[in-house]
Amino acid sequence: MENIKFPFRESPDTACITCSHIIENDSPILYAAHDDDGWWQFLCGAEKHKQEHARLVSLNTILGLDSSISEIADMECEHSAIRSSLNDDWNRE
Ligand SMILES: [Zn+2]
Repeated sequence: MENIKFPFRESPDTACITCSHIIENDSPILYAAHDDDGWWQFLCGAEKHKQEHARLVSLNTILGLDSSISEIADMECEHSAIRSSLNDDWNRE
């Protein structure tokens, strides 16, 4: 058993929203938002996202794609964070 604490308050199997670019095209996660209704969103830097680009995955899956997401896992609802590239730090808005 791994003994690393899950960084989110939510459980690892909590559904969150991401986009097809990240899941299918290996785009980096450059935008994260914790919506006022509790939903987490993790999107790439693409200007426009349509409904057809939305994908539902678990928080655990997102963390598996990019462990730096743990840096913003304590973000409150109605907050978001961006970064310019994978190598940049998250900037909370
Ligand atoms: Zn995208």
